[in-house]
Amino acid sequence: MTTNLYQIGMGLRSIRRRRKMLWIVIGIYFPQIWLTIEFSGSNTAVTIVFIVWFIMLWNCVMLVAFAKCPSCDNYFHIKSFFPTYHKRHCLHCGLSLRADLDSKSI
Ligand SMILES: [Zn+2]
Repeated sequence: MTTNLYQIGMGLRSIRRRRKMLWIVIGIYFPQIWLTIEFSGSNTAVTIVFIVWFIMLWNCVMLVAFAKCPSCDNYFHIKSFFPTYHKRHCLHCGLSLRADLDSKSI
């Protein structure tokens, strides 16, 4: 169990960055597919864009799922088998995702 506030802050920033990247990748799905259909009209192009997007999504999902809590060193989003991305606190020690921003709550 880490109590170093600097390390906890760095770890939480990393988790927030990964989560933000995941939501951005999810959010660009429809615009990029729509733009690909609009400008190319090719099924092959749409398939390639989808595969590239899916690989990016898979990488982001894995990065978020296996992010470790900077306080207790367990997986931040996984307690049993399935990751729960919507939780904004560690499923093991309860550390808030914004604990470093909401100072003195660590
Ligand atoms: Zn924890």
